[in-house]
Amino acid sequence: MIDFKKEIDKKVFHIVGDTANELRRECYAVGGCVRDMVLRRPSKDIDFVTVGSGIELAEAVAGKLGKGAHLSVFRTFGTAQVKKHNLELEFVGARKESYNRESRNPVVEEGSLTDDLSRRDFTINALALQVNTGENFGRLIDMFDGMGDIERQIIRTPLDPDITFSDDPLRMLRAIRFATQLGFKIHPETFDALTRNAGRIEIITRERIATELMKIMESPRPSIGWDLLYKSGLLKLILPELAAMKGVEVVNGRAHKDNFYHTLEVLDKLSRMTDKVWLRWAALLHDIAKPVTKKWDDKAGWTFHNHNFVGSKMVPRIFRNLKLPLDNKMKYVAKLVELHMRPIALVEDEVTDSAVRRLVNDAGEDLEDLLLLCEADVTSKNEEKVRRIMANLAIVKQKIEEVNERDNIRNFNPPVDGIEIMRTFGIGGGPLVGEIKQRIKDAILDGEIHNDYDEAREMMLRLGKEHGLTPVTDA
Ligand code: ATP
Ligand code: MG
Repeated sequence: MIDFKKEIDKKVFHIVGDTANELRRECYAVGGCVRDMVLRRPSKDIDFVTVGSGIELAEAVAGKLGKGAHLSVFRTFGTAQVKKHNLELEFVGARKESYNRESRNPVVEEGSLTDDLSRRDFTINALALQVNTGENFGRLIDMFDGMGDIERQIIRTPLDPDITFSDDPLRMLRAIRFATQLGFKIHPETFDALTRNAGRIEIITRERIATELMKIMESPRPSIGWDLLYKSGLLKLILPELAAMKGVEVVNGRAHKDNFYHTLEVLDKLSRMTDKVWLRWAALLHDIAKPVTKKWDDKAGWTFHNHNFVGSKMVPRIFRNLKLPLDNKMKYVAKLVELHMRPIALVEDEVTDSAVRRLVNDAGEDLEDLLLLCEADVTSKNEEKVRRIMANLAIVKQKIEEVNERDNIRNFNPPVDGIEIMRTFGIGGGPLVGEIKQRIKDAILDGEIHNDYDEAREMMLRLGKEHGLTPVTDA
């Protein structure tokens, strides 16, 4: 049993509690920070609710904290924030809310603590801990058995879930996000309501949706969230390309695997290996073009030709729709989607030096990440097959090391560049310059010449000659 008095026996709670007493106000720590105390999770900010003006209390607390304390007041929201060092305190007056159908922004009026706790999204987020110093210091208010739900690991709304979700549909995503972060189950009645209200997600901005998706992706097992999104019907509204991967088709008694569940397996497997969230996105999207490239071939069975390439081309649109960053994170994801089959394909052909060099060169600094993705992509139930593929991957890795040691091929640019080619032959830029450059690069990748200036220059002169070019004298 957690001893809340001891939990909050810290200077900051005493200061806030004393200040509240001086103003003759009730004050409570609420929401996520209380939940996280019980769960022994770190939490960065502390939310305080007071009955009356939160801004007044914040001003007084900031005064007491003295030098180094910084106060920000948000009058329109009736909230205020006090920061000092790495401490972040939020203050708000207890409130009552009423919603209309078009917006998730409620009409807000002053209310009691009971009103305030009743408008919160989940029972586990509706705990309040009184901080007024004196006999009530550390008194827990738990109107909806949030403690019991933490114990049972359940996400449940305090009031009628249909109203809770319809009022603010963002809560549907929060439910799924908390279930994923904490590994909790969503209570069946809450989940049924979530499913019924899925269509309401349309009034939520995509930025807010993206924030929740990122939190799902940063969780230990992101698949929990994506699976719940699918089962609730939210996925086809948020990321239809991923929802389209669900299901199997059978022709002549031959079924392909369920690409959605395969993807989730890959995602979880990868997430056990790395926290890199964009690599996790690459895992989520690596087979995204399978539904659109799927074909039945009488000889080969199910085929997904070029799904890696088509998939990488789908990434920018998906990122744009989801309001995910369109900078090099997107390019990184697209690149890994495009390359995700290369390491395995390599061993299935033949591990030649030149093929390895090309892979190393194309993957550049993302080679290790690509290999992790590849490893995660091996999910077959057939142990023999898994063993074989993993052994092959090991060969590729070893070969990569060898080639890397021998020549410095990663991200390389040919030792003679376009400018040198133009200067040498006294010509302007054009396709010929590009061609010479490319042939030198190919020759290095194919191991015909070394990645070395003198050899590259010699080759350039030879190629120039083939095209009737002679070096100008001062080059
Ligand atoms: P985290 O900080 O990890 O996202 P949290 O529970 O602290 O989790 P916040 O968004 O910081 O979430 O919100 C603080 C508290 O405010 C919540 O614990 C909950 O009580 C309440 N809350 C937040 N968003 C909503 C919402 N959309 N509907 C109802 N209550 C909410
Ligand atoms: Mg919080």
